[in-house]
This record gives sequence, structure tokens and C-alpha cells, in this order.
Amino acid sequence: KHSDGKYLVTLIEGDGIGPEISQSVKDIFSAANAPIKWESVDVTPTLKDGKTVIPDEAIDSVTRNSIALKGPLATPVGSGHVSLNLTLRRTFGLFANVRPCKSIAGYKTPYDNVDTVLIRENTEGEYSGIEHVVVDGVVQSIKLITREASERVLRFAFQYAQDVGKPKVRVVHKATIMKMSDGLFLSIAREVAKDFPNVEFDAELLDNACLKIVSDPTPYNDKVLVMPNLYGDILSDMCAGLIGGLGLTPSGNISKDVAIFEAVHGSAPDIAGKALANPTALLLSSIMMLQHMGLYEHADKIQSAIFKVLAEGKTITGDLGGKAKTHEYADAVIKAL
Ligand code: NAD
Repeated sequence: KHSDGKYLVTLIEGDGIGPEISQSVKDIFSAANAPIKWESVDVTPTLKDGKTVIPDEAIDSVTRNSIALKGPLATPVGSGHVSLNLTLRRTFGLFANVRPCKSIAGYKTPYDNVDTVLIRENTEGEYSGIEHVVVDGVVQSIKLITREASERVLRFAFQYAQDVGKPKVRVVHKATIMKMSDGLFLSIAREVAKDFPNVEFDAELLDNACLKIVSDPTPYNDKVLVMPNLYGDILSDMCAGLIGGLGLTPSGNISKDVAIFEAVHGSAPDIAGKALANPTALLLSSIMMLQHMGLYEHADKIQSAIFKVLAEGKTITGDLGGKAKTHEYADAVIKAL
């Protein structure tokens, strides 16, 4: 907390449309008197000993403030560069990715009343990057599941379920086939569940969960779904599809010490600099951030204003079928506050 009573938050504006949608967040937060003081940092990567690194200043800022809001980062094309998002994940040990998907009134999709939350283990599983050639024409890829990483994400999921008032945790798994790896994840879930007597726990097979969610997502509204990396990657985008796609979806990346909130979409180079970008996903990410900080009143106030403007459908951006410029939409949200 800063001396003027405001909380310092690191702002990574990002590339492409990043600065435009970040401006909308700044304008709306200031109109709503949200007690946030932004500390903007540049994360343009530098190559150090052939490795992609983030400038120390940016790392120090996130570490000091422990909360960051991040716009999309373009992944530089060319060898030697690891994706900056992956670099951030590794630098801060961001072990859980939280993806709420809530239907937006005014944006018609095949489903109404979707309100899912999915938590994905973000560091290991099928994405451990351990692959090798056994012999010519035969490769092996290792799915790594550890007690430590599983317990960390599962404990977080139960705590999150308790905090947000969705008192059911469901593990999505394939322990029928992946007996040891998913089996371990599932058995740790059973252990962790004992520490949360107020949270119900059950489990569902991945294939069944996919079938059921796309048939009728509403039975999932009272649950927090938690799963290993690959399943979470796929299922979280599937859930985003239920509410109208990645352009409206916020997310949070959680580590032991820091939390970084970001829109799920990319830097949209095709529309950058034209005031055509829809800042909703970054705004909803900033609302997750306020909730994470316990600033529920400000979160509710800004969220209601956003939903009101979207439901009216008069001042919405091109991707949602409207004609408004980024700042016109932001102004309408400010009026609705
Ligand atoms: P993208 O999400 O940037 O764009 C896909 C399409 O969606 C484009 O037509 C774009 O105009 C549109 N779009 C995306 N966000 C929008 C918004 N807020 N408002 C209106 N329209 C929007 O995906 P891409 O083109 O595959 O990737 C572009 C760059 O972004 C790449 O360098 C990629 O690596 C990076 N990327 C970053 C992140 C991240 O930082 N989290 C995520 C995905 C992609």
C-alpha cells in the first residue's frame, strides 16, 4: 500500500493493442476512484547469454508490488527467443492459471447463464518439455506429475472455491488410463479435500466432462474445475468458446508470492493503433485483480458498468458487431459507473 492509501500495481501495457486497452482500464479505474496506483514497466526482452530475459526493473516491480496487470505480449519470431509469457511464468513460478467464463448479457451465444471457473496446473504434466528420440521414427514425451506441484494447485483450487463461494471442487482427470500420473493427482486431491470440510469434492473423467459441458454448461456453475496442464489448456479455451470466445475472457496467473492478471487474447497486430480494440477482457482481468486484492466493492461497481454497456449494445466495439472506438466504449462505461 502506498502512502496515499492506494495500492501500487505493476502495469505491463504490452504490445500491439496493449497500450490502447490499458488506457481504457486506467481511465475507468480513475473515474471509479479505484484505490490503485499504476507502476508501468517495460518488459521488452533482451538476450542475455543467448537466453530471453525480462529487464530487472520489471521483475523488481512485480516482486515488490506482488500484483500485476498485463496486456498481451507479442512473441518475437526467430530462434533464441522463448515466448515472453513462458519466461514470465518461469521467472515468477506462476503455478496456477485461473480462467472464469461468465456469460455476457447482450452478447448472444448458444448458451445463456454460463459461469464456469477452471483452474489449470501450469508448470508440468504433458507440457514439461521432456521429449526425446528413442530410435529413428520413435519419440517419447514424458508427462511429469509431482506431489509438490499437484498439491500446490489443488490446495489453491480448494481455497479459491471457498473464497469465491463456489463450494464444490471437481478434479477432471483420466486416471482410468493414466493410472499413475493422474492417479497421483486424484489421490492428492482426496487428501487435500480433508482439509476443506466445507468444500464438496468429486471427480469426473475428461471425456465425459467435455461432452457434458458442451451439452449443458449450467450444472458446472457451482463448481471449480481443477486439472493437469494439457487438459486445462484445452478445456479452458473450450469454456471460453461457450461465452463468445477468447476476446472476452480474463485470466489470473498465481504463484506463491505474486499474481499476474491478463486477457487471454493476443496483441491483435491487425487492428493495433486504430482504436478498434475491445478492452473488455483486460477490464474483466482487472476486476479479477480487484477481487484478489479484496476490493470487492470497486470490482462490483466497475463490473456492473461494463455489463450494462454491453447489454445495451449501443456503444460496443467492432468485434462484438458494434461501431464504437475503444475510447468511446470506455467513456460509455465511465458514464454507466
Ligand atoms: P490475437 O488474439 O492477437 O488475434 C486474433 C484475432 O482476434 C485477430 O483478428 C484480432 O484482431 C482479434 N482480437 C484479439 N483481441 C482483440 C480485442 N481485444 N479486440 C478486438 N479484436 C481482438 O492472436 P494472434 O494473432 O494469434 O497473435 C498475435 C500476437 O499475440 C502473437 O505475437 C502472439 O504470440 C501473441 N499472443 C500473446 C498472448 C498473451 O500475451 N497472453 C496470447 C496469445 C497470443
